[in-house]
Amino acid sequence: MTSATGPVTLLAPGTILQGAEPTARASYDGPMPSAKTDAAGAPAPVHHREQLDPRSSSRDRSWPPAPDPLPSPVIDNHCHLDFADGEQHLTVPEHIARAAAAGVDAMITIGSDLEAVRWTARLLDGPDAPASLRGGVAIHPNEAALHARGHGHDGQEMIGLDEALAEVDSLVRGAGMVVVGESGLDWFRTSRKDEQARQAQIDAFRFHIALAKETGLPLQIHDRDAHADVLEILDADGAPERTVLHCFSGDAEFARACVDRGFYLSFAGTVTFKNAQGLRGALAEVGLDRVMVETDAPFLTPVPYRGRPNSSYLIPLTMATIAEVTGTDLEQACRRIRETTHGVYDWPAA
Ligand SMILES: [Zn+2]
Ligand SMILES: [Zn+2]
Repeated sequence: MTSATGPVTLLAPGTILQGAEPTARASYDGPMPSAKTDAAGAPAPVHHREQLDPRSSSRDRSWPPAPDPLPSPVIDNHCHLDFADGEQHLTVPEHIARAAAAGVDAMITIGSDLEAVRWTARLLDGPDAPASLRGGVAIHPNEAALHARGHGHDGQEMIGLDEALAEVDSLVRGAGMVVVGESGLDWFRTSRKDEQARQAQIDAFRFHIALAKETGLPLQIHDRDAHADVLEILDADGAPERTVLHCFSGDAEFARACVDRGFYLSFAGTVTFKNAQGLRGALAEVGLDRVMVETDAPFLTPVPYRGRPNSSYLIPLTMATIAEVTGTDLEQACRRIRETTHGVYDWPAA
């Protein structure tokens, strides 16, 4: 296992890590940011889904009806409560209440850009922090590329990547944080050919791997069109003991490669999509042993409500597919997944 701060062992010449050195760490001693709060005392969302998904402005923005509740509770281990969606705004307590009624008794909200990182830290730090909610923070690979460039898509100036990562380093140690994430590589939204962006993603990923190991927290990985490169970096630096591929998107072979390394696979609503036979094949291949469930809400709403707003209360739709694909009784599948999730995050109590 190579230390993330030492020299990197290349697995093959000319590969992803060439020339990459992890970003230096600094301490954060800035003030905690302030934010507006919604009626229930939780900070109001800082993002809208349309920001990331502009096509979606013409879609049906009504909330899907509540599915039949699960026979046994599960945990949504990856959602983004800092994102608003839907024609009717749901507060954090409303998301939690709807989830609980559907059998989703705990959630992990992920802050993946600087604003969301601060929002998540603030939500979990107060005396009113919801008992059934925990969080994780990181600079998302696409955001890392923007920090390196110095300005966002709207031209707005952004602080440097080192500074942004230093803030994550500080806030991930705060109240209610159970995971470092999401971090990884995204060659879909950010071109692999843009050298500065590519290097920023790699630097940020390696920083978060080291941070997870240092804090002893699990790591949630974002991998979009980057399976081989993600594995190469994890193999080179040494993966954290608990490593989760969030919104798993690989085929059976990649799933096997991850599970062989002791990683966990978290399945989102994408597993219900009609064109996702490869993903269902991956799930069938590995079975329930290292599998968890998530929404990535407000994105990736499961069938039959694709395109509409997503929230943790819709997990029963994804769980039905997971149970079916693995040939498991739904109640049994829920129990196993909850047990796995509890083991990974050491929360909530069984
Ligand atoms: Zn992601
Ligand atoms: Zn996400």
